[in-house]
Amino acid sequence: MLDTTEALVRLESPTTDKAAVDRCGAELASRLEAIGGRVTRLSRPERGDHLLAEFGCGESQILLLGHFDTVWPVGQLDRMPLTRSNGRLHGPGVFDMKAGIAIGMLATRALLEADARPSRRIVMLWTTDEEVGSGSSREAIEEEARRSAAVLVLEPSLPGGGVKTSRKGCGGYRIVVRGIAAHAGIEPQKGASAVQELHPRRGRRRRRRASTDGGRRVRGRPGVQRSGARRCADDG
Ligand SMILES: [Zn+2]
Repeated sequence: MLDTTEALVRLESPTTDKAAVDRCGAELASRLEAIGGRVTRLSRPERGDHLLAEFGCGESQILLLGHFDTVWPVGQLDRMPLTRSNGRLHGPGVFDMKAGIAIGMLATRALLEADARPSRRIVMLWTTDEEVGSGSSREAIEEEARRSAAVLVLEPSLPGGGVKTSRKGCGGYRIVVRGIAAHAGIEPQKGASAVQELHPRRGRRRRRRASTDGGRRVRGRPGVQRSGARRCADDG
């Protein structure tokens, strides 16, 4: 397991560098094949190719899901070298989540070598764009998840080793708020400021209201804000 984790970490794989991610993917694919996996590459022109590996047989399947892209740029290994100390392995991408891939592979290999003959196929889907929202892998994830009896996401555990049983979602939105122009000196009460409406303090009140809706928590984080100005004709 350590050997697999270290091999994957040495091949740095920032999401935006397809060539680097594919180098890491090639290593991962050959290791998956070495433990009996039937590997399919889901090629993507803009991102690294995702890897789908199947083990065993059976009508239904269990999905192991994860990603081998990282947030670290190529060269991070020089600044944050791969080291083992006090029984821990440190390096870019160990935690999130190359060690998770290695754990999934170890468990699968142990099952197959013990001749436990699981009644379900084990399918692994290792993607390459999780760190930027899984745009090119979403369809494959949904498709495989739909045909699976269970999906185990092997992201790092919670403090204390607790397993994660749910994940938050995220989305990007473009919100257009239009203000009402009014003369600031004569009749400011007739106006409404789009910028104030978008202000985080006001937004927070909105979010609190939204969080009570159906038990779902809605949070916002403003990104880019642009505003315009309008001059009244009599301002000169
Ligand atoms: Zn992750």
